[in-house]
Amino acid sequence: MLIRNKKVLFLFLFLTAVSNNLLFGDLRIGLLSLDNPLSLTVNICEGRYRMMIDGHYIIVNQDDNILINRAGSKILITTLGNNTILADSVILEPYEDDFFFSIRNNLTEGDQKEYYGKLIVKSDIQSLLVINEVNEDCYLAGVVQAEAGFKGSIEYFKTQTLLARTYLYMYINRHREDGYNLCDRTHCQAYHGKSQVKVIREAVNETRGQVLTSQDSILVFTPFHSNCGGQTQSSENVWLRRTAHLLGVTDPYCAYSRNARWMRKLRISEWILYLTEHGYTHHKYDDLAFEQLSRKQNYSAGSFSYPLTRIREDLKLKSTFFSVKLVDNNVILEGRGYGHGVGLCQEGAKVMAQRGFKMKEIIGFYFQGLQIMDINDVRQTMEINSAF
Ligand SMILES: [Zn+2]
Ligand SMILES: [Zn+2]
Repeated sequence: MLIRNKKVLFLFLFLTAVSNNLLFGDLRIGLLSLDNPLSLTVNICEGRYRMMIDGHYIIVNQDDNILINRAGSKILITTLGNNTILADSVILEPYEDDFFFSIRNNLTEGDQKEYYGKLIVKSDIQSLLVINEVNEDCYLAGVVQAEAGFKGSIEYFKTQTLLARTYLYMYINRHREDGYNLCDRTHCQAYHGKSQVKVIREAVNETRGQVLTSQDSILVFTPFHSNCGGQTQSSENVWLRRTAHLLGVTDPYCAYSRNARWMRKLRISEWILYLTEHGYTHHKYDDLAFEQLSRKQNYSAGSFSYPLTRIREDLKLKSTFFSVKLVDNNVILEGRGYGHGVGLCQEGAKVMAQRGFKMKEIIGFYFQGLQIMDINDVRQTMEINSAF
């Protein structure tokens, strides 16, 4: 480490003896959503932090900015009146748990995001490796806000918290080889930093330790989606694997929510071209119409049949739950719902909670045969489940 200022050196010596009363988070979350950063600005939004650079300490205070640039296998840290330090890593630790900082990628247009807990930055193969070390409660509140939104009642957010905590423990070693537990993208669970939404924080507190398991006390995969369109989907229709707790149910709660319906208009020629590319040979208009009163697995026109999941993916449709109508020279896809449709329907769950259903009832409605139990009583945890 190079120190190019005597005042900084003095600070190092002085602060090595500073109080050890710091927070140590439990989880390490890789902040991949910063998009391969080469240059970061970290701002201390509130409170005081101890910045550890290769084993030496500096105090940073509210409103201080820290610039971190990748410099080959090292990082270049600029702080405290343009002092520059070349180091292997930097760790920023708050003195109290409600202090927070923000991070911005200087080379992209991305948002500035705010975080509780610690920040760890070092150089990685092609960019900076950025890790937020954060306690479970703060992490889960952030995930619930990112995945379930700001608005809703307590039982809705408790339900989402249980799904997020179950996922966390089921996949806690997913990025072990990368140096952290989970990433902040939808590859794991979306996490955009801190949540200060009171009802979300209460939901996390009230469900502390609780996860969802099968009857034999094993953590289970509990997917969710925005809106099921009135009927959830069985897992085998999406992931080709039947799962006892992921069977389709009729959902009367989400019909009037934001994502209940959608429409896509295509020219008939475009639709036929698409189908022909996948084996359709009839070229007759009268067999193209298709109806889904309840969810089907395949689109069919005459003897032609093609998986709805593939059509959804290829045409970037909101769901597979759509009917096909012919109007003039156009094909109208009339769709219901948004998302894969398996497991919990978020907009339905939100309405259930508003109508007075409890978390346990909401979970029991969308998942079959699960139990809520304490993470300490779960069998076979900490395993990576690669079933999906
Ligand atoms: Zn991930
Ligand atoms: Zn629904």
